[in-house]
Amino acid sequence: MIDTHAHLDFSQFDKDRDEVISTCKKNGVQFIINIGVDLKSSLAGIKLAEKYDFIYATVGFHPHDAKNLTDSAFDELQKLATHPKVVGIGEIGLDFYRNLSPVKLQEKAFIKQLDLAKKLNLPVVLHIRKALDQAYEILHRRGHGQGILHAFPGDKSYAIEGIDMGYYIAFGGPITYPNSRGPAVAGSIPISRILTETDCPYLPPQKYRGKRNQPDYVRYVIEKLVEVFPKYIFEDIRRITIKNAGRVFNIPVDDTPMLVYKIGKSLYINLTGRCTNNCYFCPKNHGFHVAGHNLKLNREPDEKEILQKMSEQDNYNEIVFCGLGEPTLRADLMLSLAKSLKEKKTPIRLNTNGQGNLINKTDLSKKMAGLIDIVNVSLNAHDEKTYNGICQPQFGEKVFDKVIDFARRCKQMGINTIFSVVDIPEIEIEACKKIADNIGIPLRVRKYAP
Ligand code: SF4
Ligand SMILES: [Zn+2]
Repeated sequence: MIDTHAHLDFSQFDKDRDEVISTCKKNGVQFIINIGVDLKSSLAGIKLAEKYDFIYATVGFHPHDAKNLTDSAFDELQKLATHPKVVGIGEIGLDFYRNLSPVKLQEKAFIKQLDLAKKLNLPVVLHIRKALDQAYEILHRRGHGQGILHAFPGDKSYAIEGIDMGYYIAFGGPITYPNSRGPAVAGSIPISRILTETDCPYLPPQKYRGKRNQPDYVRYVIEKLVEVFPKYIFEDIRRITIKNAGRVFNIPVDDTPMLVYKIGKSLYINLTGRCTNNCYFCPKNHGFHVAGHNLKLNREPDEKEILQKMSEQDNYNEIVFCGLGEPTLRADLMLSLAKSLKEKKTPIRLNTNGQGNLINKTDLSKKMAGLIDIVNVSLNAHDEKTYNGICQPQFGEKVFDKVIDFARRCKQMGINTIFSVVDIPEIEIEACKKIADNIGIPLRVRKYAP
């Protein structure tokens, strides 16, 4: 787990700081970002980061302390910002709720530190309270679109606007409070833009309300996010939020390419990165990651490697040939694996672009019968022209009908066959439903997360 917003240097931890840190490590906290609020705390955060390899620091002046950001303090801050374990500028922003610094000075300090972050190419950790419109106006004008909206104070529309500017949204203890709007906001944005934080010693989760917060309590934030995104389990959200933070702060999170990977209770087998389509929304065109897994293969695996990797996994109730390539490009391997996995009695699914017959120049559905239990065919459009525009198939312009024909044949062979589409604007879902209904195949509409 990662706590992207901790204040372990604060006096509330003076009596047992090292003990808390080692407890957090023991309880599965892999990274902590300690956040500066003034020069003293920024320096203290750096000292902690020097002492513990899994702690990193940000440096900055909180809007409460904006009045103390003198020229000499700013010079000092700039020096601190070049420390190798400093991974961001923050927390900075506007706080018109408590107004502990005059508004004008808050704005000046905010802009100055945004410019510093831009100059050093570091992300910003943003603290905004009762000042979203004013802060967003400044961010649109002066921000570089890298960083985090911490303790997110807004509603869904502000979250989307923040994401559109390039920022990630961090959720902490308050998301666990009854009546919190956090879960609804989180559910309205892509999981790939969500981070976990505590703001410890403040804002503990519901279970510890009134007590001191600490980094390993991000567990409760993850548990809440699992409720918000039911297709994921704890391990998924844990992995995804660490990867997200790795991208924001450029910290060394594990990013090993996966031959075999789990999402929820499904075990996926990544046979190839090649595909006969080039859909514009394919994650391949946006960094090769799916649900926090790196699917970019350096080379194509063989059967032995895959079986070896599979033997390291347990607790799954489905095996899926998927990845970011078209599995039927390696049909022989897929069928041979399916044969050897059959004795496990775990259902086997194929996610395909439906071009298996074209690719293999044979009726693949016949060979799949009895080996593949479920086929999920990406229909991806309601007609040929739209399909060609979205998918840019290598097989030319007459592919769409072949995809439908493949699905029909799979169904005829007794394979449980499903069509899927992504709900992008150019696809007419009703027309897709009609195509699916005509051949008696159910249609699944997947949410598009840009
Ligand atoms: S069919 Fe799937 S793997 Fe192939 S390009 Fe489209 S989205 Fe990517
Ligand atoms: Zn804070």
